[in-house]
Amino acid sequence: MKHQLRVYNSLSGKKEVFKPLTAGNVGMYVCGPTVYSNVHLGNCRTFISFDIIFRYLSYLGLKVRYVRNITDAGHLENDEDVGEDRISKKARLEKLEPMQVVQRYTLDFHAMLSKFNTLPPSIEPTATGHIIEQIEIIKAIIKAGFAYEVNGSVYFDVLEFNKKERYGKLSGRNIEDLIHNTRTLEGQSDKKNPQDFALWKKAESQHIMRWTSPWSEGFPGWHLECTAMSTKYLGQEFDIHGGGMDLKFPHHECEIAQAEVIHGKSPVNYWIHANMLTLNGKKMAKSTGNNILPNEIFTGENTMFSKAYAPPVVRFFMLQAHYRSIIDISEPALEASEKGYHRLMEALNYLGDLPTGAKGDFDLDHWQDKCHEAMDDDFNTPVLIAHLFDAVKFINSVKTGLQSIDTIQKERLIKMMESFSFDVLGLEKPLKKPIPSDHKLEQTIHLLIKLRDQARLDKNFALSDQIREELLALGIELKDTKDGTEFQFE
Ligand code: AMP
Ligand code: ZN
Repeated sequence: MKHQLRVYNSLSGKKEVFKPLTAGNVGMYVCGPTVYSNVHLGNCRTFISFDIIFRYLSYLGLKVRYVRNITDAGHLENDEDVGEDRISKKARLEKLEPMQVVQRYTLDFHAMLSKFNTLPPSIEPTATGHIIEQIEIIKAIIKAGFAYEVNGSVYFDVLEFNKKERYGKLSGRNIEDLIHNTRTLEGQSDKKNPQDFALWKKAESQHIMRWTSPWSEGFPGWHLECTAMSTKYLGQEFDIHGGGMDLKFPHHECEIAQAEVIHGKSPVNYWIHANMLTLNGKKMAKSTGNNILPNEIFTGENTMFSKAYAPPVVRFFMLQAHYRSIIDISEPALEASEKGYHRLMEALNYLGDLPTGAKGDFDLDHWQDKCHEAMDDDFNTPVLIAHLFDAVKFINSVKTGLQSIDTIQKERLIKMMESFSFDVLGLEKPLKKPIPSDHKLEQTIHLLIKLRDQARLDKNFALSDQIREELLALGIELKDTKDGTEFQFE
């Protein structure tokens, strides 16, 4: 089947046929996290959304250079041009060196994303590693006449830019409304206009993260970082730029303005924005406290849900919504996803053991085309999952003898099911039958622990070892501690 991938482009507000700038290759830049605290589940959703895009482009045989940065300086509180740097603030509060903060939360970010089985990007540049490139861009913007220096800080002149190109075309805002609605914040009096944004800020004496520049000892503006890193690794024009919906304005709007004035062209062909994960109907966010950390869900140590949910279940839950829809996390939704995920994995597990016979009437070509059509239609994972469940229904009916499958069909079905589930959706191949995390199982393990304790008291070590080893083979590890025996699922 010939694929015609269509991608919703936030810039045009339409689904467009995806055509890379260089045939066979894709350059994709995704705004990474600001590493000043643990990533919450909402952040993870955005990165899982782009993991799907990365996986599917690769599945189509495209060579993707996926750049996702780490913001380790310049992102101030409230996304404004005044206020404290988020990382410096955390460092001050915890009496740490800022780079310790960066290291701690970068490690957390990587650990969480790997639990979710997301693939690492091809390049992961940091903002602090690209100060020189950022200074060069500021010089070019000043030279082009679109930035000005005041008291050691440099600002982008939005009104001047708007004379040349419309400012606000990505987010659908217009400059008159912006002027009308922008508050003049204290400390922004240096700017000619409140909607101008900082390219370089002179550091106040207490600001720890600072670099030398032609204008002052200071630090770069947040929007500039992404222009510097995307241009360096993907060029002046590249295929895809992504991030969460909340980054459209001002962050991405400012990136477009910066790149356009120095390169004279729009930097990105397809702007892709992933929608938000909500909790109790409100956006999950670090600042409001309305959030849950991935580990709190995986361990069950939280006050919101009655039990733990495994990473692939949470990933599956997210993929059951399209990346451009809002999803609200709730216990009934997670429970439904857990059931669905296990049903899919069970079918995948016994697919290899299905008895073969006469050719069945499941049209594999047609089914595969439908799966591709779903993903070709702006990466529609919920529709793909619905098709996977059609196959599960068929597998189950072969199992119960209502339908049949021949060996050729079976081999093909195994390949297709595995490739859609594991390569495209990034679900994890279970090594054994999935263990439902319900109380009955826990009580059964406790019973076995008791029997093992008794066996040890009786000096029947052969039996006590057998219990431990056979549980381990099932993926249940016993650990003897001073407070008794504990267990964990591998
Ligand atoms: P930050 O670390 O705040 O720069 O955010 C990292 C990424 O997470 C950005 O792409 C945000 O758009 C995204 N993000 C933040 N909150 C949410 C949310 N509730 N749901 C989905 N994505 C989010
Ligand atoms: Zn960015």
